[in-house]
Amino acid sequence: MSGADAGARGACKSSVTRLTFAGVNTNSTYDCIVIGAGQAGLAAGYYLQQAGKHFLLLDGHERIGDNWRQRWKGLRLFSPNQYNALPGMPPAGDPLSLPDRREMADYLEAYATHFALPVKNACTCVSAKKTDGLWKIETEQDTLITRQLILATGAYRTPFIPETLANSFPSVIRQWHSSEIQSVADHADADTSVLIIGAGASGQQLSHLFYGTGADVTLTGPVLPNLPRNFLGKDIYWWLYKSGMMTLRNDRPPGSWMGNAGKGDLTVAEPPLPDGVRRIKTKVTLHDDGHLQFDCQKTMPAPLAWPGRKKGIVVWCTGFRNTYPFLPADALDEQGTPLQQSGQSTVYNDLFFLGLPNLLRPNSSLVGGVGRDAERIVKLILRTKTAGN
Ligand SMILES: Cc1cc2nc3c(=O)[nH]c(=O)nc-3n(C[C@H](O)[C@H](O)[C@H](O)COP(=O)(O)OP(=O)(O)OC[C@H]3O[C@@H](n4cnc5c(N)ncnc54)[C@H](O)[C@@H]3O)c2cc1C
Repeated sequence: MSGADAGARGACKSSVTRLTFAGVNTNSTYDCIVIGAGQAGLAAGYYLQQAGKHFLLLDGHERIGDNWRQRWKGLRLFSPNQYNALPGMPPAGDPLSLPDRREMADYLEAYATHFALPVKNACTCVSAKKTDGLWKIETEQDTLITRQLILATGAYRTPFIPETLANSFPSVIRQWHSSEIQSVADHADADTSVLIIGAGASGQQLSHLFYGTGADVTLTGPVLPNLPRNFLGKDIYWWLYKSGMMTLRNDRPPGSWMGNAGKGDLTVAEPPLPDGVRRIKTKVTLHDDGHLQFDCQKTMPAPLAWPGRKKGIVVWCTGFRNTYPFLPADALDEQGTPLQQSGQSTVYNDLFFLGLPNLLRPNSSLVGGVGRDAERIVKLILRTKTAGN
C-alpha cells in the first residue's frame, strides 16, 4: 500500500514554498514531455527524474494544485490521508483524516517543490503532432520537441451535462455543473430551491452543503453502488487495499476476469443525508410544463416550483467526459476516447496516458493509485524505441 511508502513527509500548508522553474528549452529535444502536472503528471515526473530523463511537465494552471483549489469550498476527499500518497512522499497529518481541497492542493505543490520537478505552469498545450518521428508540442508560447509524450490531463475535467434535459428547463432557472461551484453560499440561501441531478459522491456531498445554506434541497438519480465508510471497525479503504481489490491489474487474471477495464471509479458513501433533503431515486429525463418526468413514466411537480422559495437552481453532478482537442484525431476513437491499452497508445507507441479511470487498476485515477501506474508507464517508456535512441 502506497501510504506506507518511506520518504519525506508531505509539507503542510504553512511550509509550502513555491517551485521556481528555470525555463523551457526550445532548442533541445526532450526525452519526454508530460502534459498535465496534477497528481498523475507529478507521479510520472518522479519516475522520469529517477530514470535520469531529460523531461518537462506542462500545465495550464497558474499554480500546482489549482485543480483541487478550484473545486468547491467544503470538499473533503473520500480517501483518507494514508491512501493518498504519491511515490516517495506521503502526505502529512492524521493517516485516517479526509483532507480538504486546499490540503490536497498544497500537498501536490509541496511534492513538486520537494523533488524540484521541472514544471512549466500557465502553459497550455494547444497541439501535439507527430513529425519526422518526434512529437511537436505547440503551447500558447513555444514549440517544443520530444521523443515521448505522456498525457496526464485528468479524467474529470470536461463537464458532462445531458443536453436535452438541461435545455428543457426554463431560463429563469439557473444551472451549474458541480465543477463550477466554488462556494454553495454564492448560489443558494433559505429562499432557494436546489435540484441536484446525479447522486454519486459529488451529488451527495453537495446536497449536505446546500442543505446547510437553508435551501430546499432535492437530490435525484438512481442509487449508485456506494461502499460504506466503515466496515467491521475499519475504514473501507483498509479492506479494499488489504483484499487487493484496489490494486488488481485489469489486463491480466484475476483482474481481467472481473472485467474492470474502462469502468468507473469506486465511490464511498457520504454520511447519511439529512432528513430534510428530498431524495428521488430515479433518473429524471425531462422538465416539462413545471413537472419533472422520470424514466419510469412517473411525473411529479418540479421541486423548483414549490411554494415559499423565490428562486430555483439546478446543479448537475453528472460527471465528466474526457476530451483531447490537441491530439491527432487518429489517436482517438469516434467518441474521442484514447485508443490505448494499459496506458500505451495502440496507434503511436511513444504516446502514453495516465490517470484514466481503471486504466490499469481500480485505483488508477485516484491519488493513491496513480503512482504505481506511473512507475509502470515510465518502465515502458524506457523500453520503447523512439527516434534517436
Ligand atoms: C469532486 C472530485 C472529488 C474527488 N475526490 C477524490 C478523492 O477523495 N480521492 C481520490 O483519490 N481521488 C478523488 N478524485 C479523483 C482524482 O483524484 C482527481 O480528479 C484528481 O484531480 C485527478 O488528478 P489528475 O492528475 O489525473 O488530473 P487533474 O488533477 O485534472 O490534473 C490535470 C492537469 O492537466 C492540466 N491540463 C489539462 N489539459 C491541459 C493542456 N492542454 N495543456 C496543459 N495542461 C493541461 C490541468 O491544468 C490540470 O492541472 C476526485 C475527483 C473529483 C472531480
